[in-house]
Amino acid sequence: MQTIDQFNFAGKKAFVRVDFNVPLDEQFNITDDNRMRAALPTLKKILADGGSLIIGSHMGRPKKNPDPKASLKVIVDHLSKLLGVPVQFAEDCQKADAQAAALKPGEVLLLENLRFYAEEEGKARGLAEDASDEEKAAAKKVIKASQKEFTKKLASYADCYVNDAFGTAHRAHASTALIADYFDTDHKMFGYLMNKEVTAVEKIMTDTARPFTAIMGGSKVSSKIEIIENLLSKVDNLIIAGGMTYTFVKAAGGKIGTSICEDDKLDMALDIVKKAKSLGVNLVMAVDAKIADSFSNDANTSFVNVNEIPDNMMGMDIGPKTEAIFAEVIKNSKTILWNGPTGVFEFDNFSHGSQAVGEAIVEATKLGAFSLVGGGDSVACVNKFGLADGVSYVSTGGGALLEAIEGKVLPGIAAIKK
Ligand code: AMP
Repeated sequence: MQTIDQFNFAGKKAFVRVDFNVPLDEQFNITDDNRMRAALPTLKKILADGGSLIIGSHMGRPKKNPDPKASLKVIVDHLSKLLGVPVQFAEDCQKADAQAAALKPGEVLLLENLRFYAEEEGKARGLAEDASDEEKAAAKKVIKASQKEFTKKLASYADCYVNDAFGTAHRAHASTALIADYFDTDHKMFGYLMNKEVTAVEKIMTDTARPFTAIMGGSKVSSKIEIIENLLSKVDNLIIAGGMTYTFVKAAGGKIGTSICEDDKLDMALDIVKKAKSLGVNLVMAVDAKIADSFSNDANTSFVNVNEIPDNMMGMDIGPKTEAIFAEVIKNSKTILWNGPTGVFEFDNFSHGSQAVGEAIVEATKLGAFSLVGGGDSVACVNKFGLADGVSYVSTGGGALLEAIEGKVLPGIAAIKK
């Protein structure tokens, strides 16, 4: 497989798919440019080699072309500042032939939001809500046919393709996956960010140092079931935390008061317990909880056994005994995956458990474990507690990371590897 380090971009035009889907305020100012900064090593390497850049990205979920509210034009100045060179802009990503052809080494062209065209995602637009299945299928056929032309056009601008958009790696879109088919194996590669993400996931899923502990938190077991099922065949320890705890506790006959619970998933919880046992996985659950008399930071609280929660109280975080148990398991691990908080960490009075888990992961990392934190709220947790620098890797790709740990093949990765 080609790598960005080995490839010499001198005199080459590179189509780089990035994720510049940055948050904007109402005046269209960028409120967080982390996604742009994350792509800089890749973009700068290409320019430093003497290559030129054709940068493609999506922003938001536009439904028409053009959609001024989702224009990438608003990031041109900032990108130029970050790269230290002027950035040209192509108002229409399908009509950039002349601009791309005129690019000289060291020059940069940013394409307008690729999702202005429905072909980028390959999803039909403008269908009536009550469209029949036949109508939907016909519309899909049409868009798939024009998607080929769309992809071909994007590919025609460049000599090589670099994918640095892990956040969209789970989508088989024109610019994230299909375009790779138009380049020879030695002319397509991951960018640095993508490479870091792929390597981190591989360290967890295939190249695993043991014991491997996964900490699954968050609110609902139903939203994590595919991940849990896939992880059961891979981990040594599975720590179940957060709101989903109470579905397991209730299924086992415990009293959970008004705690969050999915009553229709009790069987699912019992099934996970059974599967873990049969696979020899050490399933680690909370033994005590910090409970509250309302869903609020200022609620009255106390600590009780997790299966003895009074009728009018709810479990909002793990208790100190559980913290100690979880920490012990985590510190004895060599590979750690953390997805989801142990409680309602957004309220300071119920964030102690998540912080304790984060700190135990940092300690294990110091002792030589590889730790990956990813998927939405656990990333917010490590940032809130200032622990991001102490873990091995914090993933930038929410949905993509989750699909990877569900065991799915990500089209954006497969397209480069094949
Ligand atoms: P998820 O998006 O499924 O990872 O869930 C994250 C959310 O779960 C966070 O917003 C937490 O506040 C919430 N959460 C964690 N523990 C609990 C709990 N015991 N009760 C209610 N919500 C919880």
